[in-house]
Amino acid sequence: MEKAKELKESLFRPNNNGWETLKEEERKKVFDFSNKYINFINTAKTERECVKVLTEILEKHNFKNIESQTNLKAGDKVYYINRNKNIYAAVIGSDDLKNGFNIVGAHIDSPRLDLKPNPLYECEELALLKTHYYGGIKKYQWVNIPLSMHGVIMTKDNKKIEINIGENKNDPIFTIADLLPHLSSQQEKKKLQDAIAGEDLNILVGSIPYETEEEITEKVKLNILNLLNKKYGIVERDFVSSEIEFVPSMKAKSLGFDESLVAGYGQDDRVCAYTSLKALLNIDNPKRTSICLLADKEEIGSMGNTGMSSRVFEYFLNELLEKTIGNKPGLLDSCLKSSRVLSADVTAGYNPNFPNIYEKNNESYIGHGISVIKYTGSASKGGASDANAEFVGYIRNLFEKNNIAYQNSEMGKIGIGGGGTIAYILADRGADVIDCGVPVISMHSPYEITSKFDIYNAYKAYKTFYQDE
Ligand code: MN
Ligand code: MN
Repeated sequence: MEKAKELKESLFRPNNNGWETLKEEERKKVFDFSNKYINFINTAKTERECVKVLTEILEKHNFKNIESQTNLKAGDKVYYINRNKNIYAAVIGSDDLKNGFNIVGAHIDSPRLDLKPNPLYECEELALLKTHYYGGIKKYQWVNIPLSMHGVIMTKDNKKIEINIGENKNDPIFTIADLLPHLSSQQEKKKLQDAIAGEDLNILVGSIPYETEEEITEKVKLNILNLLNKKYGIVERDFVSSEIEFVPSMKAKSLGFDESLVAGYGQDDRVCAYTSLKALLNIDNPKRTSICLLADKEEIGSMGNTGMSSRVFEYFLNELLEKTIGNKPGLLDSCLKSSRVLSADVTAGYNPNFPNIYEKNNESYIGHGISVIKYTGSASKGGASDANAEFVGYIRNLFEKNNIAYQNSEMGKIGIGGGGTIAYILADRGADVIDCGVPVISMHSPYEITSKFDIYNAYKAYKTFYQDE
């Protein structure tokens, strides 16, 4: 009997709950790390806020803006900020850069409600803002929750006004008003995806008419614009040159009696952004040059000059080459071909409320460590960057040698849905790439859920990966 048990242990794939493997001292590290992460996602709710907060952290750790440096040598630490919306950071390795980089790439944009160019209107003496949702959301989840307003407005005289309302204790919040159940018999017969339409996502922002004896229309709208003008100096037309994002104003918090989980907005993909950047801060004299890249626009297809498809990342790499070994035509191509990339993006964690959606042998489980995903895509693996067995082998051996808790998974049963990441973009340029991130329950909802054990393991995994020769 005993022999069969041993045999089973040696032959079966392990699939352990990570908490059971933790010693008291490590458990404390997991909680301490995750509590700092909770603070981070509470202060960085947009890509611009992420760049701002993370740049401060980089500066504190002696990273220098690459544009201020002429020559770089092993051990030097640099960063580059692209239009305040995405960021690249590197630690120069002792090895010749022509042998390639170790790159961890995450994204710092998250699903949300953007304002339309002409958002403000009045209807039956209530003022509202028209939104255009960004990224894949289930629209019904975004009504009747407190929303905060974040972003920038460029004025006529080219002044940049920064806005953040709804995060501080004394700030007002905003919301989208759903229909009361008493009058919902028609709405409730609709398909879930039609119950709240894109054009129904109108945010309530005021109700007091402008005080005047004159006979004018739209007095509530006038009152709101007047308030905004007094506070920020803006006029209605300034909305056309703004990037205003409405996000859930709820604070991220520990979840559960045992406080083992994190609930909070924007964990896709700031959980991987935070852990991959923190890992870069804590590596010493790597052999290969280590790069953390934090992209924008992943949630809408990685397009645009701050998305992963932009050549600005290559500009940064060319700068690294130029300032270390000297650049020459074709060098970047051969560097990228020899580079290793972890596409650090979240995946679906098994949700016990919906067991029929999952294929239990190939899912990510909360608390079982970081998920390594060979391919994403949909039914036919369509659109996937399917990693080579050799590279998957390299990653699993690296993680096993370094005691990283990891699991291998897909996302749901075949044909039920699908998704993609930035993996294919760097694979296109010749690098070995695999998706590797934290499992999330209720992804893209206003209140996503992760495990503190998995968060800490992501940090350990990225740190190990950067440092590998
Ligand atoms: Mn993502
Ligand atoms: Mn996403």
